[in-house]
Amino acid sequence: STLTKTDILKMAEEKNVKFIRMQFTDILGIVKNVAITVNQLEDALDNKIMFDGSSVDGFTRIQESDMYLRPDYDTFTIFPWRPEEGGSVARLICDVYTPTGEPFSGGPRNVLKKALEEAEEMGYEMNVGPEPEFFLFQLDENGEATTVTQDNGGYFDLGPVDKGINARRSIVLALEEMGFEVEASHHEVAPGQHEIDFKYAPALRTADNIATFKFVTKSIAHQHGLHATFMPKPIFGENGSGMHVHQSLFKNGENVFYDENDRLGLSKTAYHYIGGILKHARAIAAITNPTINSYKRLVPGYEAPVYVAWSSANRSALIRIPAARGNGTRLELRNPDPTANPYLAIAVMLKAGLDGIKNEIEPPAEVLENIYEMTPERKEELQIESLPSNINEAVEILAGDELIKATLGKHVYEHFVIAKKAEWDSYRTQVSNWELEQYLNTF
Ligand code: GLU
Ligand code: MG
Ligand code: MG
Repeated sequence: STLTKTDILKMAEEKNVKFIRMQFTDILGIVKNVAITVNQLEDALDNKIMFDGSSVDGFTRIQESDMYLRPDYDTFTIFPWRPEEGGSVARLICDVYTPTGEPFSGGPRNVLKKALEEAEEMGYEMNVGPEPEFFLFQLDENGEATTVTQDNGGYFDLGPVDKGINARRSIVLALEEMGFEVEASHHEVAPGQHEIDFKYAPALRTADNIATFKFVTKSIAHQHGLHATFMPKPIFGENGSGMHVHQSLFKNGENVFYDENDRLGLSKTAYHYIGGILKHARAIAAITNPTINSYKRLVPGYEAPVYVAWSSANRSALIRIPAARGNGTRLELRNPDPTANPYLAIAVMLKAGLDGIKNEIEPPAEVLENIYEMTPERKEELQIESLPSNINEAVEILAGDELIKATLGKHVYEHFVIAKKAEWDSYRTQVSNWELEQYLNTF
């Protein structure tokens, strides 16, 4: 790490930090934290902070519940929003360790680190740039979230139409104060829908950034009397919220996806990486699109992918190759959504890509036609498969993919499946308004 223990203690004193949140995520990607006072900061930096893992979803059994938090020094950040009274609040992102000093296999950040180690052994550093989208909704008189939007703006609209713009501006400023390099932010296609893109960074940093981004966005939106949601499809008939993930591999500071002699400017390594992602795409969906609601977004007509295909241009494909070449050469995977646990999602994408590289998996030809408009016969002819249509199907496909299961590790895989089966069961046994409207009078 670039920051030392002394640096952090000094910064904490200078900035009058009173509380530190020791932050980590559970298997479902929910940010958890244990708050300590500044008096315990030195102990915390010495990895002495313990917590009860049995109360965290999918973490441990009661009999082995003690877990230790090992902070990543470089993640020390002071929250820019002011608490009510004196003293500021900082956070440290932590890895979860067992009492015997092993990285806890149920910790998503450990899962990503393990995948990154493998890339490193092959000489690669992974860079990742996400494009998280979200909605800003009004609160009702009790302060509860509604699905009423603030505006009727559309793609790239400017204020005053875009009433969420003030909130979005504050979010961007807060992120910048926390060290994010925000590259762009804009109104998205649907009313009340926004996107904030931050600069690509090494994979682990980006996963940390995504986790942080979501709660910063929610906190700041709340200060503006709005509710920010990352649920993928809050409004039927409107575009949903995705989180496209741009990714590339570097070796000795050079982008290995670029080859100036290729027709599309892509290297063999890039093609194989694409081949690997496409091979595992249907299993990966369980992780990149992990909720019931995720699959309401992955339907034709809303700029979200439905079919497993790649294209250098076409936005209906699962993988698109943005125009930049040289060190900017990258692929954009378009199915992930912001309900994904960023650590697990990046780990499975990376391992799928590395599988492609190791086994020299050739991708099928790129698809230049609009896939949404293809006849079933044409899709059949090109052997274009669909993404799973619900989380239950995705989990079943995941069960058949040994590489992706091994990437998650036994602990995370098993707990993830238990959680998803329960979610599916609870969903499929509900009687929805749609059913009442269809059947109550008809039958
Ligand atoms: N909102 C679209 C989605 O669901 C993406 C729109 C875009 O291309 O940014 O993925
Ligand atoms: Mg977008
Ligand atoms: Mg995009």
